[in-house]
Amino acid sequence: MSNGIELNQSLIAFAFDEPTFFISPFYPHRGSLYCHTKFDLTKNYIKMLYPLKFNTIFKDKIWGGEKIKRILGKDFSPLPNCGETWELSGVQGNISIVSNGPLAGQLLTDLISSYKAELLGKSVFDKYGEEFPLLIKFIDANQDLSIQVHPDDEVARKKHNSFGKTEMWYIMQADEGATLITGFNRELDRQTYLDYFNKGDIESVLNKEEVNAGDVFYIPAGRVHTIGKGIMLAEIQQTSDVTYRIYDFDRKDAEGKLRELHVEDALDALDFKHYDQYKTQYDQESDNRNVLVNSPFFCTNKWSVSKSTELNYALLDSFVILIGLNGQSTLEFEGESIDFNMGEVCLIPASFKYLQLNPTGNFEFLEVWV
Ligand SMILES: [Zn+2]
Repeated sequence: MSNGIELNQSLIAFAFDEPTFFISPFYPHRGSLYCHTKFDLTKNYIKMLYPLKFNTIFKDKIWGGEKIKRILGKDFSPLPNCGETWELSGVQGNISIVSNGPLAGQLLTDLISSYKAELLGKSVFDKYGEEFPLLIKFIDANQDLSIQVHPDDEVARKKHNSFGKTEMWYIMQADEGATLITGFNRELDRQTYLDYFNKGDIESVLNKEEVNAGDVFYIPAGRVHTIGKGIMLAEIQQTSDVTYRIYDFDRKDAEGKLRELHVEDALDALDFKHYDQYKTQYDQESDNRNVLVNSPFFCTNKWSVSKSTELNYALLDSFVILIGLNGQSTLEFEGESIDFNMGEVCLIPASFKYLQLNPTGNFEFLEVWV
């Protein structure tokens, strides 16, 4: 980094009686953001944060397809198919790695250790510590997924020392007549549920929904659910890998084995109530923020923009995740510009307050924070 900061370090440190001193990334363009550096009185140089992109983690699944490549343009070879991409993950063993800028190659978890509240936001860091609270995936179901349920925080903490899993789906593409399952189509209790289950007739009490691109479903912990074949979606969920599989259509895995079911665990986690509405209704105002979900775990908005738009996070104490749904755009910040397109995910550090999004034609994206 040779932008003059090194030469002036002792002078600045002397002149400002503060424990740390920041060269503001918001200072009117003094050159490349990528040369902005912060340092402390121990004379350690730390690179400034900026909007981060990550390498995609590809997962093949027995139910996976090829839309991740055909529609999103992501090459998952040498995998035989791709069921899920993990776009932003702090899950052990699957930790996202930065792909752009001077922090390229760094693990998300290492960045959190270094930058803490500056990256996550103070209230998020106070609540979650160094654990990244959300997991972002794209899912392509070429076959029906297993019918499943996730525990809530309380049960997950007791049984697995983990967070529970509340999730949401934004349908990006759906084949004609594609359906998914969310919740029950009638009020049940533990015993009536078990009666249906033991008769092998569980499917008759599940609520099936035909879906189209743009549909949104919020799946709180405890709600039975599965994604049906022909659906590609973006999934936003709590960081947790605890899934109780209830029914798997008697399918066998690559080694010819049935996948494990978790019938007893599921019984303790399931919400047997019936709800009138399972699909999320939302406003669709162009060039404006439309709220999809406002929950204790995450808030998600949808934007459909056709003109240059300022994203202003001055009042927000959280990181922001942008998820490109459709079209192309660029993100501008501090004289820098990065592409931000359909199928891409970008993490905006909490310390970053203003960006300009410039769409090419119409651009749709989700905006997620904690
Ligand atoms: Zn799930």
